[in-house]
Amino acid sequence: MPIYEYVCEACGEQFAKLQKMGAAEDETACPKCGSSEVKRRISGCSIGSGGKDPGGPACGSGGG
Ligand SMILES: [Zn+2]
Repeated sequence: MPIYEYVCEACGEQFAKLQKMGAAEDETACPKCGSSEVKRRISGCSIGSGGKDPGGPACGSGGG
């Protein structure tokens, strides 16, 4: 199972959870403040449902 990284939009807490692929992000709540306003951040470039770009995907760039 992949580890998903989350950032709480309410308090800014960053945490990681081990979840099945395809788990809904709204199932996840912040362990610090309990808010469900969390955003998932995929840890690692190999995880995801995109195609393989030979030129190199936008790994590590923020925003979004
Ligand atoms: Zn929080």
